[in-house]
Amino acid sequence: MAESRKVAVIGAGASGIVTARELQREGHRVVVFEKSNQLGGVWVYNPRVETDLLSLDLNREIIHSSLYKSLRTNLPRKLMSFSDCSFDCAENGNRLNFPEHEEVLRFLNEFAKDFAINELIRLNTEVVRVAPVEFGGNRWVVESKSEELSSEEVFDSVVICNGHYTVPRIANIPGINKWPGKQIHSHNYRIPEPFKDQARPLYTFSIVVVIGDGPSGLDICRDIATVAKQVHLSTRYSEIVVSKLDNYENLWNHSKIEHVDESGEVIFFDGSSIHADIILHCTGYKYDFPFLETNGIVSVDDEGRVVGPLYKHVFPPKLSPCLSFVGTPYQGVLFRMFELQAKWIAQVLSGKVFLPSEEEMLADVEDHNRQLEEAGIPKRHTHRLDPQSPLMAESRKVAVIGAGPSGLVTTRELQREGHRVVVFEKSNQLGGLWAYNPRVETDLLSLDP
Ligand code: FAD
Repeated sequence: MAESRKVAVIGAGASGIVTARELQREGHRVVVFEKSNQLGGVWVYNPRVETDLLSLDLNREIIHSSLYKSLRTNLPRKLMSFSDCSFDCAENGNRLNFPEHEEVLRFLNEFAKDFAINELIRLNTEVVRVAPVEFGGNRWVVESKSEELSSEEVFDSVVICNGHYTVPRIANIPGINKWPGKQIHSHNYRIPEPFKDQARPLYTFSIVVVIGDGPSGLDICRDIATVAKQVHLSTRYSEIVVSKLDNYENLWNHSKIEHVDESGEVIFFDGSSIHADIILHCTGYKYDFPFLETNGIVSVDDEGRVVGPLYKHVFPPKLSPCLSFVGTPYQGVLFRMFELQAKWIAQVLSGKVFLPSEEEMLADVEDHNRQLEEAGIPKRHTHRLDPQSPLMAESRKVAVIGAGPSGLVTTRELQREGHRVVVFEKSNQLGGLWAYNPRVETDLLSLDP
């Protein structure tokens, strides 16, 4: 008899709605808190930007989504779906293999409707505090605000699905405090028009330096190159020779910025320099859980880049299984990852699946950190699911011949390492030598071939 728990899910983005579905399927009672007026999170395009374009002012009004207007997914549509709800179920798709953002939002709305998730979501309701009722106990208090009303409710479990693409990280550039140009973070970039050539009086900016060659930096520099006089993309590497990028006449690839100065000059490590009007930081985001009170048991370190300790990026060992996180890793097939994390949480909460002990989970986290260090991967990449990472070991299809003790233990080790194993055994049972057979051979010296 599976256990049913009262679970709070924070956020109704892609991770929150699939988590709600898995929890509900497992028989839990779910409330989804969503601070905005609709579901979809990142995929809700908002033409407005924050008043402080670097998002440093603590009192600014926060805009959640960082979507720019031209954005299309960087994964094919088949990978932007959940296992039993393909993208094709979203109406009116124009069938681009890499869909436009509007289509992803439509898909998420269809999904929520089909699985009756809408009824579980409390819109315009921001969670402002999540804390254990008592440490060492199993209940959590969730304080939320909607309009002027605030309320407190107790849950058996809380799953955090609040996203991590809203609080910008800014590049640290020597001399920036005296540099006279404008700065923006990609969180506040929507359309290229304000970057039009200065020759046209309506627009101010024409020579633009974009920092960061991740997906947003690469998209945005091409977007702006359609209207600006010059765009200079600064990558994270020092040893790069300046070169033209793609087929654009006005787009250059540079090394890291060495420094900037008060005359407006931007000087790169590649030896080139440019007098720029604006620097656009496409330098990523920080994990942020302003509502979470755990007495330091869960913390965000490395300038906002690491949350921990989290067992397999999901469960904080000391607070498991009542507190969990969906969506922390990046650079993977994210929607499917959210779904798998959610299934795991739902089944752990119902008692069908067991977690290791607190000590074992902590040891696993430490082991992961040690492996990163030994592979020379900086701590800031703790949550990166990069297939090129040395930690993403290769999986092979392996034949093991014989199911005696050596075959069995070999199989276990191969499987632990992620290989796909087939064991061939000629007899009708495993055990080899240890499967006693009262019969003997007809040639008692066993010489007859
Ligand atoms: P979000 O979508 O951010 O949703 C979090 C939700 O939580 C929001 O609705 C927010 O309002 C709500 N919330 C936050 N705090 C609170 C609170 N205190 N109380 C109540 N509600 C709260 N992924 C891909 O797979 N393919 C892509 O092509 C792709 N492109 C991307 C492009 C950009 C510009 C960005 C920023 C991200 C992109 N991603 C892409 C990653 C994307 O973030 C994930 O795919 C996914 O949509 C994240 O879902 P989420 O539910 O974890 O977070």
